[in-house]
Amino acid sequence: MTPPFYSDPGLLSDPVLNVRQLLKSFRGAPVLSGVDLAVSSGEIACLIGPSGAGKSTLLRCLNFLERPDGGEITFFGERLCSEDGNVFHIAPERTLQSARARMPMVFQHFNLFSHRTIIENVMEGQIVVLRRQKEEARERARACLTRVGLLGHADSYPDQLSGGQKQRVAIARALAMSPALILFDEPTSALDPALVQEVQSVMRDLSAEGMTMLIVTHDMRLVRSIATTVHFCADGHIAESGSPATLFEEARSSRTHAFMTAAMT
Ligand code: ADP
Ligand code: MG
Repeated sequence: MTPPFYSDPGLLSDPVLNVRQLLKSFRGAPVLSGVDLAVSSGEIACLIGPSGAGKSTLLRCLNFLERPDGGEITFFGERLCSEDGNVFHIAPERTLQSARARMPMVFQHFNLFSHRTIIENVMEGQIVVLRRQKEEARERARACLTRVGLLGHADSYPDQLSGGQKQRVAIARALAMSPALILFDEPTSALDPALVQEVQSVMRDLSAEGMTMLIVTHDMRLVRSIATTVHFCADGHIAESGSPATLFEEARSSRTHAFMTAAMT
């Protein structure tokens, strides 16, 4: 039997991810100034907005690749950070590590280990973080590579693959972690136009299967075809949220409208 690629949505508390008033500054300059965001099971949430708005910082704070300075993140019913009175509290590293494993990220520049084979790249996190046995990890890696159409490249090295193939490996690596939510940071921005489609097609398949995803992207065609909810980020917070139809056709704020119109042309 094929193993499930994601956690049973029926077991998930709803929402999967809840963010309240998240804060982050770099050297005194606020980048996130009170982000509120909820992502429900099976939802495909797309984050759009101008460069520098804090979208990557938000994703990196969600899985604690970056330490937020304030606010609350609840993932899967567990508090990853919270405020008690005026005291900001971050959960122990062990809790963060397990959350990070269930909320893997797919990066713009793939971030594969260049000196490891494709299958080793997909096995690594399973062995190191999830402590799976090597053979179990290999079996799952093979299933996940099959899922993205790359089992034939299992013993190749990243340099031997195209950008689109590397990004599909990065998606297989995320799937191998039995994620509750996959974070994508501009997954197609570094790809030649001809290779964008193969990555989007894998993402569409995952969405159809009920995978929960939070996607930062500038690709409005992807947003239109995949999003259940669109969030427009500007100036360190989410300025407007709604269905793709609402944001594309009747955005409330003139700034959202201007951004959507420019992005579509
Ligand atoms: P976006 O992904 O929306 O383009 P980012 O989250 O990458 O925006 O960046 C938001 C702002 O935070 C930018 O002004 C950027 O220069 C700044 N920033 C991001 N990461 C760092 C960092 N590690 N150190 C200092 N400033 C940073
Ligand atoms: Mg970014």
